[in-house]
Formats: sequence, structure tokens, C-alpha cells
Amino acid sequence: MKLLFERSRSGRTESLLPPCDVPPVEFDAGSLRAAPPRLPEISEVDLGRHYTELAKQTHGVNDGFYPLGSCTMKYNPRVNEEMAALPGFTGIHPLQPAGTVQGCLEVLAKTETMLCEITGMDGMTLQPAAGAHGEYTGLLLIRRYHQSRGDTARTKIIVPDSAHGTNPASAVMAGFTVVSVPSNAEGGVDLDALRAAVGPDTAGLMLTNPNTLGLFDPNILEITRIVHEAGGLCYYDGANLNAIMGHVRPGDMGFDCVHVNLHKTFSTPHGGGGPGSGPVGCKAFLADFLPAPRVGCKDGQYRLYAPARSLGRVRTFQGNFLVVVRALTYLLTLGKQGIPEASAGAVLNANYLMHKLAGAYQMAYDTPCMHEFVMTLEPLKAETGVSAMDVAKRMLDFGIHPPTMYFPLIVHEALMVEPTETESPETLDQAAEIFLRILDEAKADGASLHSAPHDCPIGRPDEVRAARTPVLRYEFEVVQ
Ligand SMILES: *Cc1c(COP(=O)(O)O)cnc(C)c1O
Repeated sequence: MKLLFERSRSGRTESLLPPCDVPPVEFDAGSLRAAPPRLPEISEVDLGRHYTELAKQTHGVNDGFYPLGSCTMKYNPRVNEEMAALPGFTGIHPLQPAGTVQGCLEVLAKTETMLCEITGMDGMTLQPAAGAHGEYTGLLLIRRYHQSRGDTARTKIIVPDSAHGTNPASAVMAGFTVVSVPSNAEGGVDLDALRAAVGPDTAGLMLTNPNTLGLFDPNILEITRIVHEAGGLCYYDGANLNAIMGHVRPGDMGFDCVHVNLHKTFSTPHGGGGPGSGPVGCKAFLADFLPAPRVGCKDGQYRLYAPARSLGRVRTFQGNFLVVVRALTYLLTLGKQGIPEASAGAVLNANYLMHKLAGAYQMAYDTPCMHEFVMTLEPLKAETGVSAMDVAKRMLDFGIHPPTMYFPLIVHEALMVEPTETESPETLDQAAEIFLRILDEAKADGASLHSAPHDCPIGRPDEVRAARTPVLRYEFEVVQ
């Protein structure tokens, strides 16, 4: 497909602006650029076709089933977009005086209150731009807390071996060293290993529950008690909140601090780098350290203020504000009844699909799951040579986005499937048929799957090179 720069023809611009009705201003020569910017010149219709062609080459929730485990790729209701597009939200300046943006501040305050209620926290910042950014912010809160008590020996963060890669990475970025604890045979935290790992150097524990195996850890109260007794704090990675919202609260499980991924649980579309939002909530004893500014309300007026011992800003202005607008719309449309129904639906759908596949595919853990489940294709690979990668790639030919592959790391040849609550039984039945059909193909002619997908614009790109050396600039011919 041609790039915009290759479609460009000199002079073919589209200008629909009315004639200028303010007096022109002359700039001195020194302020002017020597050559015009090399912008593509293209007609409106060709521009439209260019982006439509690009859109057709990718896969989104609007194209088909998207069971990408741990990412909660749920449908984003159109009404969210309608609200996020309101001129009162899009046409404001971040430096406007608080008195002129009361509605926007109310959006922030209301969202904070509802998310605190759902997570069982007392205060929250909406600044962080992603889950990982939230982790980093939450860990800074924990660091400040220990420092404020002169407890400077607490340098270690405990992370289970099933954790998302961002957990240890954030801990290191926040200045901690990471201690990994193994999982037990049921996929939960090994309590003896945890008891052995905690001590006077423990700053805290990072945990997601249900974990990345899609399993709720029944020992959670014991886990947080062990960490607290050792003097550490407990951080909840809320990326899997879709499994439990409205049913159980991290704050009641013993967590002191939590992030939520608005772009996962609260339906903002994501992938391809954002924008996202990772609000961080905490118990009252940590709230003084939250990033500034926070939104408060006094005498019916919303205002911005800095908490007493704030760790400062972690993001410009109020973070990705329009993601918060979408999340609030989602919260208000679902309401107190719809929120727990959504997570119940997510858990039901995951168990339904798991049950349909369980006779044919090997599940990593033979127990009911929460909102996602993990299969191991190790036996299939041993039998037929067909890997998790081959099966995932073949799914693309059927218009299904592949599940998450090779994660969590403790399961070999892993495929991690998260259907979400927004899929119908018919879609799940169809997906199950395709999974089973690919299994038949693997057994009949495994070699044919090594070259899948067969019908996509691209097949198997070099993923490492694409991530490490992305080509993001157009290489203009050098004119001598
Ligand atoms: C997605 C995810 C994260 C990181 O969130 P981002 O918004 O992608 O930065 C952390 N932990 C788990 C379990 C996740 O699924």
C-alpha cells in the first residue's frame, strides 16, 4: 500500500477555509523557514481512502472477536464517544481558571468517588496515563510512606512469578529491588515462600487477584496479613478488576493501594499505544502523598489543591481527561446494578468457552476460572509439532484476534483467552468451533500451520525488529 508521501502531488491541496478577514502580519525574514514543510499534498477523497485502507488492514473489536487475555478488549459503547466528543469537554484549555470548568472538575470528582467505592479506597489520583504508570505512582506512594517514618531499610518489593512484566519493571523504576515468589500447585501464591521472603527490608507486595492465570487466590487475606505483619504495604494491580468489580473490593482484601486500567475495565478502546488511564487509589493514611493537584469541593465549588505531602505531578494537567469522561459515562450507564452484572458476565463467558474447549485443549489449571483462562499447548506441540504461535496465527485467517501468547511465563506454550462480557453466546460458540477446527488441522496436517496466516496482509513479521527498530519517519529522497 502506498504511503501518503508517495500519493502526494504538488499543488493538490484541499482548502475549505473562508478567506482571512483579519489584517495579515508580516514576519521578519529571520522568523520564516527557508523551505516549506514537506507535507503531503492530497485531495480529501484520496486522504479518506488512504485511512480507510489502513483501517481495513488492522483488527479491532468492531471487526470481530478479540479474546486477548489480560487486556480486556471489551466493546466501547458509542454513547461513551458521544460524551467524550461534547464541545464542553473538547474545547477547553487546561489552564482555564477552575471557576470556568466546574463541569469538568465535577467529572473528575465523581469518577474518583465511584472508583474509590468500587476498589474500597479512600482517595485517588486520575493523573497516571496507563496501568504501568499507575504502578510506578503507587510504588512512589509506598516509598514516601516508609521514608516519612524514617524506615529507610525497606528496599524490596515482592512480586509473584505469575505477575505481568510491568510489575517488576515498575518496582525497579521506583527504586526498589524485586524479590520473586513462586506459585503453588493451585496457581496461587506459595504461602511458605512468601513467609520466607518477607522481613525488615520488605517495602511491599504487588499482586493481581485474580492473577494472570485467571485464578482468584483464596488465601488473599492471609497473604496481605503476612506482608502487613512484616511491616510492608500491599499494592493491587487492578488490571484484572473486570473479574470482580461490584463483588469484591481490593480494599477489603487488605490492599493499601491500587491502580485501575480505565482502558480495560471501563471500556475505553485501547491497543497500539493509547491513550489510556491508570488512576491510583489508596487508603486514607497514604492520601497525603498523592500526586498534586487533586480535585476538591468546598461550598459547592470544585477546585484544585495540593495534598500536604504530595509527591508532585506524575503527568501534565489532569491526565488523559477524555478517557475519564468515557469511564464515567460507562459507570453511569451501567450503574450499581450493571457493574457487578458486567463482571459476572465476563466470568460466565470465560467459563463457558473454557468448558467448550476443555475436552480438546489442555487447560493449565483444571479448575473453574475467573474472567480468563490459560491453556498449555505443550502436549499438542509434542504430538504434532504445532505451537501456540501456529494456532494463534491461524486464528487470524478466521477473522479472530489471537489470544495472548506465551504469557504468563510459568505456563509453557501458553494461550491466554479472555472473551469479556460483551460477546454473545453465538460468538463464543463460533470461536469454539474455530479453535476445535484448528486442532483438527494440527492433527491432520500440522506443517500447514507453520506458515499461517494464509489470508492476511502480512503473515509473520519480525516482532523483535518491529518493536526495537520501528520505522516511524518517511525517508525523503535527498535533493542535492
Ligand atoms: C495490562 C496490564 C498491566 C499494565 O497496564 P498498561 O495499561 O498496559 O500499562 C499490568 N498488569 C496486568 C495484569 C495487565 O494485564
